[in-house]
Amino acid sequence: MFKKILVANRGEIALRIQRACRELGIKAVMVYSEADREAKYVKLAEEAVCIGPAPSSASYLNMPAIISAAEVTDAEAIHPGYGFLSENADFAERVEKSGFQFIGPTPESIRIMGDKVSAKQAMIKAGVPCVPGSEGELPDDPATIRRIARTVGYPVIIKAAGGGGGRGMRVVHTEAALVNAVQMTKAEAQAAFNNPSVYMEKFLQNPRHIEIQVLADKHKNAVYLGERDCSMQRRHQKVIEEAPAPGIPRKLIEKIGERCAAACKRIGYRGAGTFEFLYENGEFYFIEMNTRVQVEHPVTELVTGIDIVKTQIMVAAGEKLPFTQRQIPLQGHAIECRVNAEDPYKFTPSPGRITMWHAPGGPGVRVDSHVYTNYFVPPNYDSMIGKIIVHGDTREEALARMRTALLETVVEGIQTNIPLHRELMVDAKFMAGGTNIHYLEEWLGAHKR
Ligand code: ADP
Repeated sequence: MFKKILVANRGEIALRIQRACRELGIKAVMVYSEADREAKYVKLAEEAVCIGPAPSSASYLNMPAIISAAEVTDAEAIHPGYGFLSENADFAERVEKSGFQFIGPTPESIRIMGDKVSAKQAMIKAGVPCVPGSEGELPDDPATIRRIARTVGYPVIIKAAGGGGGRGMRVVHTEAALVNAVQMTKAEAQAAFNNPSVYMEKFLQNPRHIEIQVLADKHKNAVYLGERDCSMQRRHQKVIEEAPAPGIPRKLIEKIGERCAAACKRIGYRGAGTFEFLYENGEFYFIEMNTRVQVEHPVTELVTGIDIVKTQIMVAAGEKLPFTQRQIPLQGHAIECRVNAEDPYKFTPSPGRITMWHAPGGPGVRVDSHVYTNYFVPPNYDSMIGKIIVHGDTREEALARMRTALLETVVEGIQTNIPLHRELMVDAKFMAGGTNIHYLEEWLGAHKR
């Protein structure tokens, strides 16, 4: 096992990884930008290294600064967390070339999955069902593009191969709009992702977002840890996540989960990963794979009792997965609310000093957050300041616990989206379960203020 790991991230996930390291008896080296000097995990750290000024480009995305921090502190491995450099194949390669273990899959796996066209092709080969669409990148010839769209059937969605974060996508309803839409998406993809390649998929009208968590080791073992329902989204950003997904037959989940685990073995995947699917009319359609730990991993931890971050570290060190598929229990129901520093209805960011922070507690309540009373939320990064996660024997119990937890939570000095979460937890349709990916935006449209 490693003696020392460098945590190349910030915020709640940096604290989460630090906690996992402590439990495993591993020293965690924390890195921070000048704006994050006051973060809880920096204050708690045995060792912390400032890697640059506030802008991420100069700090959390600064590969040489991070690698030299690992060198000067004698760390053996680097945990990239999520966001920032976590899905950057060049970074993973540089980490390994510099003699450190990257806590994640191989650079090759990251590269294949990072390009949505090659990811889809790999999944089709591995027997994972995908959204019907173009086989690979769209050509330039307008007649061919039209022919492909007719075969797929309107409406279609044009997506950038290098896209991410919900950007680089365009829905097309008619043939008249098609060629122009392809050209515009290509130009945008070139500007945003430095890769003009685009592909076409059938646009599913009312799907749910269901994802499968996997864990794989370096010895060809791979398992799936059930599913998460992340359909409550705004602008393709997840707001609430839960496990299991309400109303989806267990048999269907097991079937798709087994496919995902088999695909991991086939492509030599290692570490934690997530297969994201759209789910409509009883069918799963793969859209992309995330090759890292995800924000919403705690809901899976609460229903399986498995520590995903510790397992990531153990398999990176070469250990075998400590459980087989049959040894993975699924117990009860878990829900996560992302707490963002923002106006709850207008969504404008609300950074600044937190004058009062009181976290909820009680049975089945978990809070993952790096903030505290008197902490200053810097304006430079993502607005998420923490997550409230609850577990109950049933979905009803989990909902009741979340309502209680949200009622107890006090955040003063900045605005947060907690009032929005409080309303959603008593919304009849959300309480019934199974809302689709458009539901939250429709709800917000109907509850304008
Ligand atoms: P990103 O990497 O930018 O998050 P994804 O491929 O995961 O892109 O898609 C993000 C979201 O866009 C999905 O969660 C879904 O809401 C929507 N979307 C993507 N592909 C389709 C599709 N074929 N049909 C309908 N909606 C889609």
